[in-house]
Amino acid sequence: MHDPIPVNTPLLDGNEKKYLIECIDSGWISSEGPYVSQFEEKFAARVGRKYGIAVSNGSVALDAAVVALGIGAGDEVILPTFTIISCAAAIVRAGAIPVVVDSDPVTWNMDVNQIEDKITPRTKAIMVVHIYGLPVDMDPVLALAKKHGLKIIEDAAEMHGQTYKGRPCGSFGDLSTFSFYPNKHITTGEGGMIVTDDPALAEKCRSLRNLCFQAKKRFIHEEIGWNFRFTNLQAALGLAQLETLEAHVQRKRAMGAKYTSLLKDVPDIQLPLAKTGYADNIYWIFGIVLGDSYAFDADEIARRLAAQKIGTRPFFWPMHEQPVFRKIGLFKETRCPVAERIARRGFYVPSGLGLKAGEMETVADAFRKALAL
Ligand SMILES: *Cc1c(COP(=O)(O)O)cnc(C)c1O
Repeated sequence: MHDPIPVNTPLLDGNEKKYLIECIDSGWISSEGPYVSQFEEKFAARVGRKYGIAVSNGSVALDAAVVALGIGAGDEVILPTFTIISCAAAIVRAGAIPVVVDSDPVTWNMDVNQIEDKITPRTKAIMVVHIYGLPVDMDPVLALAKKHGLKIIEDAAEMHGQTYKGRPCGSFGDLSTFSFYPNKHITTGEGGMIVTDDPALAEKCRSLRNLCFQAKKRFIHEEIGWNFRFTNLQAALGLAQLETLEAHVQRKRAMGAKYTSLLKDVPDIQLPLAKTGYADNIYWIFGIVLGDSYAFDADEIARRLAAQKIGTRPFFWPMHEQPVFRKIGLFKETRCPVAERIARRGFYVPSGLGLKAGEMETVADAFRKALAL
């Protein structure tokens, strides 16, 4: 039997060690170290933005973004139901109301045709979340935001190196956010970034990140912030990883193409689209949705693959079905049949950049066995 194949293995194949050793030798390990601003500048430039604000992770990047835009009690924010909890949690914590839209069954991204119906006089922003490797169709969203005077928060956590019609993901939001968790295309262990072109928003995010200390009277606070600071050690990893971003994206695309060809003869499954009219997939993860001819759900496949030492993850569970939100009275009437279906029928196979030669073949064989083909 083969070694266990985890759902993710990161790839730290550049200057990570060198830059980390420099931190240790110089003694610069906190958020005051020089790599932090270097990483912020380089990362922001890479996605065509003026300012980068590095934070502790991609989830808190969303918390800061929502508050920086002044979204609060009674405000509504439209977002996909099919996403990570971080998105809706940031809205709820700010006292605002998340309003969800269903997914497109082909791309798994938010169905942009459903947004306009959800806009009310209380809507303040659209939180766009690019899912699993393909960007959201941005043009209609940008047009709606303009027409109705809405802000855009763009969660580009899964989109390092991706573009929409040639323009970098992360360049579309009033505030756009990234994560550097180890399953993203580049990682700092834990870490995140907010990018923007607006100097006032950038300043606001910097302040929120650092407890809203004030420049002149440091310990007198006009507002409440958080400690969301990012360390020089994380920035050292980030600078090294950024140097390898192109190679990582290429590698993910090659992995996506390989899984697709290994699984192309498996009947009645849906695989990620290789491309849309506006982007080629970067395969953040390689998702599979079981067709209706299978008498079992994705969690049964996950069990059968685990028995063969293959790690998997279920798809996101829709926000409108989250017990924590139902308990506080949200989403009572909400139905999103596409997201409800893919949440139950979808899962992903080992997709990490550190996957070794031959492991994709092993996964494909194990998957066929799990389907009893
Ligand atoms: C990973 C991810 C996040 C959260 O990032 P963390 O760094 O893990 O907090 C947020 N949004 C999306 C879409 C993600 O994939």
